[in-house]
Amino acid sequence: MDERSGASAEEGDLSSACSTPECSGMLLHCPTKNETRCIVFDTLFGTNAAPILLIDPEADGAVVDANKKALEFYGYSREAFRKLHVWDINTLGRSVLPVLREISSWAGGHYPQRFRHRLADGTIRDVQVYAGPVQLIDRKLLLCVVQDITAVIEAEQFNRLLLESVNVGVCGIDNAGAFTFVNPEAVRAFGLLHESEVIKLGIHRFLGGTDEGIDSDAQRIVQAATTEPSAQGAECLMRRADGTPFPVRLLASPIRVGDKVQGAVLSFTDLTKQREREDQVADLINSIPGIVFQAVMTPNGHFSPTYFNAEASGFLGISQDADLTSPEVLSSFLPRSGWFGLLRSLKRSARGLHPWEREFQIRGRDGGKWLLGRAKTRLQPNGEVGFMGVLLDITDRKHLEARLEEAALTDSLTGLKNRRYFEQTLQSSAVQHSDYGRPYSLMVIDIDHFKQLNDRYGHGVGDDMLCHVADILRLRSRGTDCVARWGGEEFAVLLPETELGLASTVANDIRSLVAEAAFSADGLSISVGVGEVVTGEDADAFFRRVDAALYRAKANGRNRVELA
Ligand code: GH3
Ligand code: MG
Ligand code: MG
Repeated sequence: MDERSGASAEEGDLSSACSTPECSGMLLHCPTKNETRCIVFDTLFGTNAAPILLIDPEADGAVVDANKKALEFYGYSREAFRKLHVWDINTLGRSVLPVLREISSWAGGHYPQRFRHRLADGTIRDVQVYAGPVQLIDRKLLLCVVQDITAVIEAEQFNRLLLESVNVGVCGIDNAGAFTFVNPEAVRAFGLLHESEVIKLGIHRFLGGTDEGIDSDAQRIVQAATTEPSAQGAECLMRRADGTPFPVRLLASPIRVGDKVQGAVLSFTDLTKQREREDQVADLINSIPGIVFQAVMTPNGHFSPTYFNAEASGFLGISQDADLTSPEVLSSFLPRSGWFGLLRSLKRSARGLHPWEREFQIRGRDGGKWLLGRAKTRLQPNGEVGFMGVLLDITDRKHLEARLEEAALTDSLTGLKNRRYFEQTLQSSAVQHSDYGRPYSLMVIDIDHFKQLNDRYGHGVGDDMLCHVADILRLRSRGTDCVARWGGEEFAVLLPETELGLASTVANDIRSLVAEAAFSADGLSISVGVGEVVTGEDADAFFRRVDAALYRAKANGRNRVELA
């Protein structure tokens, strides 16, 4: 017996199993090839780089032997190991025995099985065991090659955890479109409850395309990923299991093994919620009774709108197709000076980063509108100032304000201007006169014996007479004249750019029109004081002078005009 067979002798029953003199190993029977061969034990078992165990399934799973690597890996001495059973190291315990028997009944081949093995120090390792039956003379044993896959399992678990925790749908497909894996987010997005339900269906079901032909963007992206060298992605529609389309951002990357593409990894973000929020914001924006806009102003003052809501074109009364972001369109709604004024105000806000606010008028088919513009300004990283704001229709408010202003300055009975308005006009005429020497004249008019008329015909007729006199004043004056009811039965007319001669003619015309009118039969007449302002005379002094002339007209018999 040579050295090796001497070494084999130490290995007990098994090593002596080979009786042929030229063999230093054992006779093994290979059931696949149905042959008994002499295999050098040391080569197969002793010096193998992987831990190998020989198990006897019939002897309660006893460990018949373990190679050097196995001793190192499990941390047992050979003697200690050979006293153990497989269920001492397998975390399945005794329930591993039926599995071993099952494996040893297989015709051939070593099928990898995943187990968890306990080492001598109690550590648990994930192992992949390639177990297969071997015939050793008259004993049928299991040869188990053990691969420590703890690190692989940990990596798999980490990947799985990662894929489970991301809120991105991730799935793997092969070239035929069958799923190789699918994460929970993808399962949820597809509208199913369990991974297995998804895996039963091909990816085509969820791409909105058909297996035969490409008829969706999603299908095209996935198809391209398996033919192009790079990842493909875009926003497109996918379909849930029930056929409902849903918007996604889809990325498909090819899985390559060597030069060959074996399939693709798809990752997608379900944009349904985002789109809902965007729609809500758009609805909100479009429910504002006005224009919502965004614009930018460059550091050199170039202003360009970038966004208008859908309402804008209807609001401005122009075609839906008109590109409102082109400044020419917007500027066409304002007179030149109005547009430049608007730009100046925008520039001021941009310069100081102040909120922008301005009321302005635009032209339009229906006579134009008053708009109130309000916007927030924000300095953008590129140095431009962004505007975001609204243009609200304040036409009604402006008209109401104008009506109120008008009412505040109008006499409600006669519709003439009231004393307040008259006094303002008188003051500004006095300023015009002192600044530019422009002439102007004044009439102060009082109805004669109005108290008696009131007493005789009643207050209602008295009112009609006041309106009648007002009509005559309106009729005989120019648009530039200011005709006012001064109070009670007194009126005043301011005649700009008018000298005394013309003013006294007008005054006499008015006096006679009143005296000749229908009411004159009832004794209606007026007395008038008329005068032209003199250099250096202020408004009050001028009024007093003309008022004095009126009193002279009264004193001199009424129904007459006296010059101041
Ligand atoms: P004289 O010729 O001196 O001006 O006499 P008069 O009666 O017109 O002057 P007086 O100041 O004594 O009377 C003015 C009257 O005008 C008294 C008042 O009842 C009447 N009056 C003032 N305002 C109104 C008004 O709004 N409606 C009517 N019907 N009468 C008014
Ligand atoms: Mg009076
Ligand atoms: Mg009077």
